[in-house]
Amino acid sequence: MKQTLLRSRIVHFRDDAVGSPDSALEYFEDGVIGFADGRITLLEDARRAEKQGLDLSAAEHRPEALVTSGFIDAHVHAPQLAVMGSYGEKLLDWLHKYTFPAELQFADEEVSRQNAEFFIDALLACGTTSAMVFTTSFAHSTEHLFQAAERTGMRLIAGKVLMDRNAPDALLDTPERALRESSTLIEKWHGRGRLGYAVTPRFAGTSSRAQLSVAGQLLRDYPDLWLQTHLSENLDEIAWTASLFPEASDYLNTYELYGLHGERSIYAHCIHLSESEQSRIAYAGATVAFCPSSNLFLGSGLLKLQQLREHNIPVALATDVGAGTSLCQLRSMGEAYKVCQLGDYPLGAAEAFYMATLGAARALHQEKHIGNLAPGKEADILLLNGNREPLMRERLRHCRDIREELFAYMSMGDERIIERTYVAGKVAGNVAGIKAKSATCSPRYAPQNHERALTP
Ligand SMILES: [Zn+2]
Repeated sequence: MKQTLLRSRIVHFRDDAVGSPDSALEYFEDGVIGFADGRITLLEDARRAEKQGLDLSAAEHRPEALVTSGFIDAHVHAPQLAVMGSYGEKLLDWLHKYTFPAELQFADEEVSRQNAEFFIDALLACGTTSAMVFTTSFAHSTEHLFQAAERTGMRLIAGKVLMDRNAPDALLDTPERALRESSTLIEKWHGRGRLGYAVTPRFAGTSSRAQLSVAGQLLRDYPDLWLQTHLSENLDEIAWTASLFPEASDYLNTYELYGLHGERSIYAHCIHLSESEQSRIAYAGATVAFCPSSNLFLGSGLLKLQQLREHNIPVALATDVGAGTSLCQLRSMGEAYKVCQLGDYPLGAAEAFYMATLGAARALHQEKHIGNLAPGKEADILLLNGNREPLMRERLRHCRDIREELFAYMSMGDERIIERTYVAGKVAGNVAGIKAKSATCSPRYAPQNHERALTP
C-alpha cells in the first residue's frame, strides 16, 4: 500500500525514554512521518531521511503546523452531551437533576444511535482518537457506540453501565441482567478490531452487593477486560457510600471486597483519597483518571497530582463530559494546570501532554498500539495549527521553544487548532465536519418569572 508522507514540525514522547515525560519529549524542527496500512512506517528528521535517499518531493509540506499523536480520553460519558454546562448542582444532585433524565432518553433506540454517531464525530473533531467510555444501562446504547466507533476504525473501550439501585426505576437493571447483557456485549465486541470492553458499575452507591459480585465475576471470567468506575469524587458521595457499605473500611474497599481492584482498573476522580487508599491503588497498579474540568465545574475538589506521582500511581487525563465542559483534551490540560497551581504544583506542558497520550496509553495497557508516533504504532495522528486563531498566532510568535508552544496550546487552545485528525492513517475528523453534521438549533424559551431568572 502507498505510504503517506507528511513533512512538518513533529513532537511526541519516545517509547524508550526513562524517567520524566520531559526527558521523553522528542521534537523534530523539520521532521517527516510516514504511514501506510494504518500504521506508522517512518519518523525521522527530514534532512537525514533525504540524505539516506528518501524522496520527499511527494510529501505534504506543512512547516507551520505541528504533528503529534492523537489524544486519549480516559473517562467520558457518551450519553451526557446534552447536559454539558448545566447549572448549579454538585455531584449527587447533578446526577438526579441532569444525568439520569438525560440517560433515560436512551431507552429510545433512535436517540441512542444518533447520539453515538455524533459523539464519535465530536471526539475525533476534538483530536481524541481513543477513549474509555461510559454508555448507559441500556445495552443497546453500548452496541450503538461500538458500531459507530467501528465505522471510523478508532481504538475505543466502552461498557454498559451497571446500576441496580438509587436511580430512576427505568434506568435500573438487575444482577442477572447485568451479567447476561454484559456477557453478550463482551462476546461480540471485546477484541473485535480496535475495540475493547470495560466492566462499568457507575459507582458503588448505585449497585447492590449482588451486582458488584457480578462485576467481579465478569472480570474473573474475562481477565483482559478493564474495569471503569468512579471513586472518591465528592465528600457527600463518600459519606453516603460509607453509610451504604458499613462493612467496608473505606470507599476503595467497596470495590476491593468484590474483586474490582487491579492493574486494569481505572478510577475516575480520586480527589479525596486517604494515604491508605493511595498506597493500595499504587500496589495494585490501578489508574487514576484525572478529570479537572469536571472537578472544577461540580466543585468536587482538587486532585493532588503530586501526591499520586509520589506514590507512582499512573494518571491519565480525562474530560468527564458531561460534567466536564469540553471534549477537547487541550482544555482538560489547561484546567489541570489550574488545579495543580492551587496545589502549588506547576504542571509542565510535557507532563500534561504525556497524561493525554503515551502516559494514558501506558495506564490503559495500550502502549503497544498507541500513545506516540513510533514506527509500528497505529497511525492515530493530529495536525495542530495554531495559526488558525489570531490570538494563538500572536502568542506563538513569541514562543522560544517547543515547551512554550505546547503550553500555549494547553492554556489557550481548543479544537479550533486541531486542523486534522487521522485514525489508523485515514483522515477522520475536523471541526468543519462536525459543524456540518450538527443540526441547526433555534431555541424558543418560555417566559420565566424573576425567581427562575436567577439561573443564568
Ligand atoms: Zn464520570
